[in-house]
Amino acid sequence: MSQENQVSQYDYDLFVIGAGSGGVRAARMAAGMGVRVAVAEERYLGGTCVNVGCVPKKLYVYASHYAETFHEAAGFGLHASGVTFDWPTLRDNKTTEITRLNGIYRNLLINSGCELFEARATVTGPNEVSVDGRRITAERILIATGGWPHVPDIPGREHVISSNEVFDLETFPRRVIVLGGGYIAVEFAGIFAGLGARTDLVYRGDLFLRGFDQEVREFTAQEVAKKGVKLRFNTNIRSIKKADDGVLIAEFEDGSTQEADQIMYATGRVPNTAGLGLEEVGVATDKSGAVVVSDQFQTSIPSIYAIGDVIDRVQLTPVALAEGMALVRALYGKGEKTVDYDLIPTAVFCQPNIGTVGLTEEQARERFAKVDVYRSEFRAMKHTLSGSQERTLMKMLVDQETDRVLGVHMVGAEAGEIIQGIAVALKAGATKAVFDSTIGIHPTAAEEFVTMREPVR
Ligand code: FAD
Repeated sequence: MSQENQVSQYDYDLFVIGAGSGGVRAARMAAGMGVRVAVAEERYLGGTCVNVGCVPKKLYVYASHYAETFHEAAGFGLHASGVTFDWPTLRDNKTTEITRLNGIYRNLLINSGCELFEARATVTGPNEVSVDGRRITAERILIATGGWPHVPDIPGREHVISSNEVFDLETFPRRVIVLGGGYIAVEFAGIFAGLGARTDLVYRGDLFLRGFDQEVREFTAQEVAKKGVKLRFNTNIRSIKKADDGVLIAEFEDGSTQEADQIMYATGRVPNTAGLGLEEVGVATDKSGAVVVSDQFQTSIPSIYAIGDVIDRVQLTPVALAEGMALVRALYGKGEKTVDYDLIPTAVFCQPNIGTVGLTEEQARERFAKVDVYRSEFRAMKHTLSGSQERTLMKMLVDQETDRVLGVHMVGAEAGEIIQGIAVALKAGATKAVFDSTIGIHPTAAEEFVTMREPVR
């Protein structure tokens, strides 16, 4: 930061490339401390999360739940007739909301004192960026350019959509194939199926959601299948053709074919560093293109920093926010200068949701000699009348030696909301005895977490 009474040799103290989750947070926070900040955004204010990620996805997840809710209401005596789904209403209402959020992000940046360039920026030197053909200097540069969907190079690749396009389809597809095994694939399969499309989820591995607790994965597969998603594991699409009438024909590895109106590839995201000028300036990246940074988010060029999906540590909005804040504190302020990546809670907004924090059973057994597994599986009270066959799974892993709770997992309604609170307890080092001494809230599903008496394993 430029010192008082001393004129900086640079146009800005900090130039942020990318106004997504991490970039906006870092820019606003730094500007609030009197730092002279400029931000460049080439596409949409708020980045992936606001425009083609968390926010519109959650709105669509809400939509997909309604269809089921109307059906379930009958058991409670409420009969809805003539229920129809109008995709343009959902899509356009979503767009109106996102446009509102874009405006909020613009105001947040400008009102905090940042200069905003709505254009692409590239790095042209350790202290220089190029925006719209203009050279701008800065004492420090922050790369917060996020990630981009990766679609494998198969014949017919041009016919598929990714999470970038899925939110704004012209018409709602009757038949969809979602390809991928990560959380985005599972969530979108749930959205499509919930809204009435015949949905196939295709994944080349044995079971989706690699990295999650094995029992959670198996349980989720069973529940997702109950909701009408056809799960096709251990297979892959070889090529895709488009017929004259616009119908897509996927050819699988075993030679079988299947027609679909849309095929969505959710096959991973890569760091968004192509053409950014990093190589020319000497900023080290790894083989996936991720910017290599120190614990303090400094790249191999000391005046250049990077945070968020572009460093490919944990691709989640709250993590990008935490990294942005830690960096700004380290550079210009006081307080915690690094990010604690331990016990990051996450949710998958499939149906029902998954909420998870801490170690999986497999990880716990690898790291601890004796692990107690507490487990509860039940049909939620609501479904005694709704007629739904949906089941809930709750699971807690405890280190026998210290009684510390190592991991908590849930598959069930509002699992994300429930696990957020439990994550605080785990961060505070809660033991099983602390859970046991906590009084439940009755009648809720969450109370199961404080009434698990005997380990099952
Ligand atoms: P981004 O938010 O991607 O922002 C990067 C910005 O930089 C973009 O706006 C881009 O246009 C801009 N940019 C790139 N290059 C340039 C350039 N050269 N010049 C100017 N601007 C540039 N996370 C969760 O926590 N919960 C969820 O439920 C969730 N759901 C998701 C669902 C989907 C479908 C997707 C795709 C992602 C989801 N995520 C979710 C992940 C989350 O969106 C990202 O982790 C988060 O957005 C990362 O923030 P970021 O600041 O690193 O990058």
